[in-house]
Parts: sequence; C-alpha cells; structure tokens
Amino acid sequence: ESVETLVNRLSETVRDYPQPGVVFRDLTPVFADGEALHAVVHALIDPFQGQFDAVAGVEARGFLLSAAAAYASGTGVVTVRKKGKLPRKTISEDYTLEYGTATLEIHADDLLPGSRVLILDDVLATGGTLGAACRLFERAGVQVAGFGVVLELSALRGRSALAGHRIRSLVRE
Ligand code: 5GP
Repeated sequence: ESVETLVNRLSETVRDYPQPGVVFRDLTPVFADGEALHAVVHALIDPFQGQFDAVAGVEARGFLLSAAAAYASGTGVVTVRKKGKLPRKTISEDYTLEYGTATLEIHADDLLPGSRVLILDDVLATGGTLGAACRLFERAGVQVAGFGVVLELSALRGRSALAGHRIRSLVRE
C-alpha cells in the first residue's frame, strides 16, 4: 500500500470544525497507525536526505512528525511554538489567519547560524504558518532546507506563499 493510499484510507474529514462552515482534515488516525506513521515519516525525510542538520515541527501536530523524523534521521528536533510558551530569548513572527493574526516563536539560539533545518507540519493550507516558521529560522541565520507536510490543500495556494523552497507533500487535494 502506498503512503498516499494509507493517508487517504486513514484520515478523517470533520465538517463544521473548529467553526461552522469549515471542513477539517483530521490526520490523528494516521499518526495512531504504526505502519502509516512509519511510512509517512520516511516519505517526508527521504527526499531531503543529507540536506538537513535538524528537524523543526510546528505546534502541535508538527511536533509528532518532527520528533519521529529527527529520530529516524539521527538529527535533533526543535519546536516552533505559539507565543509565550518558550522560556528563554525568542524570535517572533506574526502571520495572518482567516480571522486576525497569530504569533509563532523559536528560541533565538535553538540552531547554529549556517545550519540547515527541515520544517514539518501536518497540513499546508494557506501557507501562513509555514511561511512564518521559515522567516523565524532565516532571521536566526538558519537555512531552510525545505518543508514537509502530510496533506496539501492545493486550492488554498500555500505553495505560492512558500515560493523558492522545496515542498514535499504526500497527498494533495
Ligand atoms: P495555513 O497557515 O497553511 O493556512 O494552515 C496550516 C496550519 O493550520 C497547520 O499548522 C495545520 O495544522 C492547521 N490546519 C489548517 N487546516 C487544517 C485542517 O484541515 N486539518 C488540520 N489537521 N490542520 C489544519
């Protein structure tokens, strides 16, 4: 069974979550399945082998992928967190949501300048989230090796928000 087939078979669609009118794609059953988690993690890191020194995950579902991916590739893992969660000196980036804005942060010294990071999340929608994560690392002098997501919602054109970077998405719809 291909990784795309596994993800399509196991993922769920939830109507009117988190708000009426929104169709939410739920990948938690993919993470809960051992074969699928293994296949997803390897499919995300394989195209970037030898091109990254660390893996970053976006809070919170990206943490699951990034820790597994870092472990599988023998690198460290760092977190991209919502505002106010990190205890030491941070760098912050605001980004636009459908309604209003949000802020993501990393520790200023999470990674050495000149190192290369692979950034993972579960879903790419408008690209606002991964775009902010990218700016954070670039401001810290860290090179973004690329992005990996399980599901890309193509109609929201997130790919154009991340222009100039390589994006590996396992399922596009
Ligand atoms: P974007 O910033 O690209 O518009 O939205 C992506 C972020 O919102 C990701 O962190 C992702 O986890 C979350 N997200 C947006 N839509 C969905 C969805 O349908 N399902 C899931 N699981 N996450 C979503």
